[in-house]
Amino acid sequence: MTRAYNFSAGPAVLPESVLRQAADEMLDWHGSGMSVMEMSHRGKEFMSILAQAKADLAELLNLPSNYKILFLQGGGVGMNGIIPMNLLGNKKSIDVVNTGSWASKSLKEAKKYAKANEVATSEPQHYTCIPPRDTWKLDPDAAYVHICSNETIGGVQYHWVPDTGSVPLVADMSSDILSRPIDVSRYGLIFAGAQKNMGPSGMTLVLVRDDLLGRALPITPNAFDFKQQADNDSMLNTPPTYAIYIAGLVYQWLKKQGGLAAMEAHNRKKAALLYDLLDATPFYTSPVARSDRSLMNVPFTLPTEELTTAFLQGAKERGMVQLKGHSSVGGIRASIYNAMPIEGVQALADYMKEFAAHHG
Ligand SMILES: *Cc1c(COP(=O)(O)O)cnc(C)c1O
Repeated sequence: MTRAYNFSAGPAVLPESVLRQAADEMLDWHGSGMSVMEMSHRGKEFMSILAQAKADLAELLNLPSNYKILFLQGGGVGMNGIIPMNLLGNKKSIDVVNTGSWASKSLKEAKKYAKANEVATSEPQHYTCIPPRDTWKLDPDAAYVHICSNETIGGVQYHWVPDTGSVPLVADMSSDILSRPIDVSRYGLIFAGAQKNMGPSGMTLVLVRDDLLGRALPITPNAFDFKQQADNDSMLNTPPTYAIYIAGLVYQWLKKQGGLAAMEAHNRKKAALLYDLLDATPFYTSPVARSDRSLMNVPFTLPTEELTTAFLQGAKERGMVQLKGHSSVGGIRASIYNAMPIEGVQALADYMKEFAAHHG
């Protein structure tokens, strides 16, 4: 068996030890005689898996006691509608900072439920940077301010937490959750699909501050009403049990790695291998402003389409896969989430050097 170095943007690479443990436990979880997939979500076995996952996640995030952890379904895209339904309350509008494809989608979807204002945009810069905070035209009466902490397609990431005063900050962290320590208390709500940095698709994490619960519009489906789910420990309906189990194994793996500060140091080292090379090699172009470069998704371009195709082919022959850039931007994108080992990034950097020397 050979495992490729998998640079997929998502669903993405998971720690090999987690996959091995899941394989070992596939037919019989801890002597229960069942796979986790086959367990009642209300039985004591699954309840213990859920409780452990929540405890480990709270520990990793240093979660303040006035925040709830919800394991829901619907994905990041679902949350774009579910969050305005839950947080609008008696307000009229929300503010969105548009930094690329994902924030644009959130803006568009929110418009179905609220007056959604684009309070800043980097569109004129082709979404290659984060608009500076002093250019944002925030409305003090907005229900919340939406940001995307890491634009998975554009490779643009916040390296600071915006101050939004008394207006709650909502962050889509689908592609950088658990990649670095965060001060949860600076946010009203954080959401993330699991499949980039946390587990398989099918589970969506929501961290929400207590005082924001109970504002859902009457049209909100019960299964997506944060207060109802919080009151029922994410068990108002059947939660995505297997995805929660795998995410729980990932949380334990993260603790073994030394937690989020250790993860950030590791991720910085990995990203530097690529960015230093991109900066030193005119053959490659990195479109993103240096101060806003993502530690998770590294997009870059080669001089021509033909060279890009040849690059991808050569990478595949060397066991490096899913490097093709998103169809909307082209080029190459290397996603180097927590579970991508530094050896994989080093192998890519070595290949990039070799390729540029041959073709540059
Ligand atoms: C992948 C992604 C999403 C979409 O998640 P789905 O699970 O496909 O709905 C949303 N936001 C960001 C930043 C993403 O990377």
